[in-house]
Amino acid sequence: MVARFGPAGIPKDYKGKSPEVVNYLRSEGLNAYEYEAVRGVKIRDDNAKKLGMLAKLTDVKITIHAPYFINLGSQDEIILQKSINRIYETMRVAEIMGAEIIVVHPGYYGGSREMALKIVEGALEELRKKKRGGEKLGLETMGRISQIGSLEEIINFHLNFPDFVVPIIDWGHLEARSLGHVRTQQQIDNITSALVSNLSGDIAQNIHCHFSKMEFSRTGEVRHHDLSDKGYYPQFELVARSMLEHGIVKPTFIAETSALDKDAIFMRDEFYRIKQNMGIARILLRQVALRLNQSKPQWVPYSLQYLCIE
Ligand SMILES: [Zn+2]
Repeated sequence: MVARFGPAGIPKDYKGKSPEVVNYLRSEGLNAYEYEAVRGVKIRDDNAKKLGMLAKLTDVKITIHAPYFINLGSQDEIILQKSINRIYETMRVAEIMGAEIIVVHPGYYGGSREMALKIVEGALEELRKKKRGGEKLGLETMGRISQIGSLEEIINFHLNFPDFVVPIIDWGHLEARSLGHVRTQQQIDNITSALVSNLSGDIAQNIHCHFSKMEFSRTGEVRHHDLSDKGYYPQFELVARSMLEHGIVKPTFIAETSALDKDAIFMRDEFYRIKQNMGIARILLRQVALRLNQSKPQWVPYSLQYLCIE
């Protein structure tokens, strides 16, 4: 098992047929691809099948991002049911294309946070019943303060549905949601240690991340920025260092920037440069420490103070 890097959607320079994009990514030395169904699941079944087949041949990890128009926290029965149906449809296509994770934005708090979280859990219960195979629902940390998806909530959804829900860590969203508290090495280490303290070894080791730099206002996310854009955070180098220092050696990073595959390549090269500088002995020690640490999971409340909604 290896660390994985890839784009969210088709690279700009790629002009071929869409299912064959994985061959292109492989030729660039990338090994992950998040298929974007964010404006609806439009891919034909035969193309989904071809994409899955080529991904298997080239060893590219496929994940699928479900439509944006989903609110699993809605008190409106019709909106809730439509949201659940959109996820069912994404799960169906995910199975055809062999996608390991269906990435979902949980939704909005609306009136009451407590009520919204309860409604989401009910929806997850319903969705779990329709599980087709080994696929996982990935609930993402979100960038707006009105959106369900603090780090703590996302970890808790996983802990309540360990066989079905996995956490998706969108680092840019955490920077926006915390209004600029994902900048120093210490702030980033607090997030990473919350992950390794609360997740099982396997889930922490294979953590699926979205990455971009982020612009925000008082209410959180405004827009994503490329990794080369100055004046925006987080810095990938600090995140990669933090992961490796905590023994996480095979995460997946999906570039959600306009530079797509170019930023995925940048992340891959940075990750391996840092890994090489740390040396094999130190990496192995960190992995052992991670396992020992995980025999007694516990919350790290201090680390989450900026990332929870109060
Ligand atoms: Zn997303």
